[in-house]
Formats: sequence, structure tokens, C-alpha cells
Amino acid sequence: MSLLVLGSIALDTVKTPIEEHADLLGGSASYAAVAASFFTPVKLVGIVGDDFPSEHIEFFKSRNVDLEGLQIVPGKTFRWSGEYMWDMNQRETRSVELNVFENFTPELPEAYRSSRFVLLGNIAPALQHHVLDQLIRPHFVIADTMDLWINIAKEELLSLIARVDMLILNDGEARELTGETSLIKAGRRIREMGPAFVAIKKGEHGCLLFGENQFFSCPAYPLEDIHDPTGAGDCFAGGLAGYLASRHLTDADLGEKKGVPFDMMRQAVVEGSVVASFNVESFSMDRLRKVTKEENSERYEIFRTLSRFEALDA
Ligand code: AMP
Repeated sequence: MSLLVLGSIALDTVKTPIEEHADLLGGSASYAAVAASFFTPVKLVGIVGDDFPSEHIEFFKSRNVDLEGLQIVPGKTFRWSGEYMWDMNQRETRSVELNVFENFTPELPEAYRSSRFVLLGNIAPALQHHVLDQLIRPHFVIADTMDLWINIAKEELLSLIARVDMLILNDGEARELTGETSLIKAGRRIREMGPAFVAIKKGEHGCLLFGENQFFSCPAYPLEDIHDPTGAGDCFAGGLAGYLASRHLTDADLGEKKGVPFDMMRQAVVEGSVVASFNVESFSMDRLRKVTKEENSERYEIFRTLSRFEALDA
């Protein structure tokens, strides 16, 4: 089953204490779509300008990403630039150029409206609502967000949260959204706002998954070489959503309460973490272009071992 992915498609400039690269393929939807494509075909909804390099279009196509929902309009593509500190968890946005994004209204092609699995990647909540409004009975909708929308579009974000089945956000955003210092309380509070599942990302320290009376703390993969953390969160969301879509869950499986089994969601969190861990090993999507099935399974097994505890004196 294919996954519909909405979000930004960008040309990024990224600076770390070691290197700087300009005009990289980036954006929440680009990262999420490529990560999801490891598991399932993707339908991409976004906008770029006529300066968008054709090699990136060819790359999406090579990953089985359908581009009927991609608008290519006269003007410049959205541009974002960020700088990482020595602690790669710390990032400062240096500049944002909205360009063609400024007048973006996502219109779904007819074939996209019946999409069952949907990832509303990080983008203005009004646009996430607009896509949701065009869908005919989606099975399972996941939304990602960022601190910017909590600060400038909180009401729209809260009404979006009430409409989705899962929310993904990072630890700082979860605290800001709920006013709770404890992430456990924050996760519970967000579930009370509507979504059956909440995933709170903790950067290089893993992630917390909340379901109905169930909880999973996913460890982080102990990476030695982090070159560019940009898009890790989007890859996590894309990998997780792509994995779920690939499971061919039907209405009957999901039931009235959109009950993705907790064990399946736990596995989806691990699958998303594996893809995200590869992505940070290189700038843009360079590492994801080369990951082999064997490397993926090897890392998945390490994650499984890390998240299991067996008593020595059992
Ligand atoms: P992350 O590292 O997961 O926060 O995602 C970084 C990606 O988000 C970059 O590739 C940016 O192009 C994109 N991005 C940055 N700011 C925004 C924004 N306001 N709306 C949508 N995407 C953004």
C-alpha cells in the first residue's frame, strides 16, 4: 500500500564545525519520502520552483516516488540554511527563503485522495489541514511538526492534533506544547488531545512511544560518525510511516479506534530509527542512496538487541 507524504522540498545549505555544503536536496517531505521508499511506494505532495535540479527529480523517480502531486512552478525553490554547533544536537537556523512556498496550496490529484496511509510532514498546520480535508476516509494519519508552529500557529496545530492518529515531535517541542517538564506526562497529555499514538524524539538519545496504557523507550543507535543530523526526524517519521503502510493493514485490522497493534508500532519505531541513523552519516541523502538491504538488516538486529534485556540469573 502506498504512503502519501506532504511537506517541504528544499535546497539546503548546511554548516557543521567541520564542513559546509550548499544547494543540497532537503526538506521534510524529501527526507520522509526517501526514507519511506525503503518500505513502500510513495506519493509526494509539495512544491518546487523551476530552478529545482532535474537530477533530484530523477532521484525521486528512481526511489519509486510518484510525482503527480509535485507542483513545479515559475520561481525559486524553498531554501533553508542551518549551522550545527560542536554538540550536534544544537542547531541554529541561519536563513529561510520561502520563495514558491509562499503561495503554496497543496491540491491532491484524484488518485491521491483515496490514500490510506498519510504522513503530514513538517509544514504549516493550515496546509496539513488542507490536505486532510481532501482525503476520503484515510486509515491512519501521522503528523510531524516543529517549534515554529507551536509559536506562531498554536490553535491550528491543536485542531490538527485532534484530527490525527499519531503525532511525532521532539522533546523540547513536547514540553513547550504541554507545559510539562516530564516527558512521560507530556506524552500522556498529547494523547489526551486526540492521537492514539505519540512519539517523542530525543535526538541522539532515542525516542519514547506512547500508546493506550503502553509505553516503549527506543534506544538510539550508538553512532560514531555523525556528519549531518539534518532530516533525521523526517527520516524517522518517513521510515515509520512507510513500514506501517507496507503492512497492508485493512479497515478491519485497524477497527473503529484505529488500533494499530502496539507491537507493530514498536517495530515501526525501530525501523524509522534505523533509517534515521543511516541518514546522519552523510550530508543530504547521500548515505541513504547507498544503504544496502544487508546493512539495513544488520543495524535492525543491533537495535533489537539494544532494546531487549535478559536477566543473567534467569
Ligand atoms: P529536521 O532536521 O528534521 O528539523 O529537518 C530539516 C529540514 O526541514 C531541512 O531540510 C529544511 O529544508 C526543512 N525545513 C526547515 N524549516 C522548515 C519550515 N519552516 N517548514 C518546512 N520545512 C522546513
